[in-house]
Amino acid sequence: MKFVGAHVSAAGGVSKAPLNAKEIGAKAFALFTKNQRQWRAKPLTEEEIKKFRENLKKVGISPQHVLPHDSYLINLGHPEKEKRLKSLRAFIDEIERCYQLGLRYINFHPGSHLRRISEDDCLKLVAESVNEAIERTKDVVLVIENTAGQGSNVGYRFEHLARIIELVEKKDRIGVCLDTCHLFAAGYDIRTEKSYLRTMEEFESTIGLRYLKGMHLNDAKSTLGSRVDRHHSIGKGNIGLEAFRFIMNDPRLDGIPLILETIDPSIWAEEIKLLYSMVESR
Ligand SMILES: [Zn+2]
Ligand SMILES: [Zn+2]
Repeated sequence: MKFVGAHVSAAGGVSKAPLNAKEIGAKAFALFTKNQRQWRAKPLTEEEIKKFRENLKKVGISPQHVLPHDSYLINLGHPEKEKRLKSLRAFIDEIERCYQLGLRYINFHPGSHLRRISEDDCLKLVAESVNEAIERTKDVVLVIENTAGQGSNVGYRFEHLARIIELVEKKDRIGVCLDTCHLFAAGYDIRTEKSYLRTMEEFESTIGLRYLKGMHLNDAKSTLGSRVDRHHSIGKGNIGLEAFRFIMNDPRLDGIPLILETIDPSIWAEEIKLLYSMVESR
């Protein structure tokens, strides 16, 4: 069974997010547990935590189908120690927020080398930060997202994600989220059945499907291999509708959150319906 949703708003408090998900017919969702463009955030109040848990239950969404996203400011592979530690502190705070909310995952972008260190040195720093974060928190699985490879971001090759995982000590606390727009922009084609299967096989042989904890379903304004991160609505971009049919009918993607981060929230409900309409009986 597929669990499709979107990255919904948490304006007015995290407890609003499950209700916003329900409104668009989602069976899964993503959210920011704090303002994603600020370093500091007030702790979640007991009341807000309680309301979030209640609302989640009320809308019938399981915590394993919620994929919170961390702040855009965090760079766990920052070449400067002080700035990296600032990111690590903010990351640990976000993991704790997820734990308080009773959630199982946190989705993060690996980091950027800022053209001051090599990609591999950056990946090592990311893994070091991840090990430290795991050591200082409980239960929550840290889910690395593949990137489009824009700017100096690492994580656009499966080998990058595999390298981080290789260096992480507690493998049960690390996972991967595949973003379809980022995949495509990084040069992994999924537009035909053949290319889709080849990309998934490469994922399996380089990383392993057991690490796949979620996906971001986005079409792309950018082109194959462009390393430009521009999302588009499903079926309207350069990836096209067929790729999403393969995803919706791939039993390997059953049970994990499949999250829209497409550009027009006013059609998320339609996009979710469209995706479910592509499921063929098997
Ligand atoms: Zn994404
Ligand atoms: Zn993106």
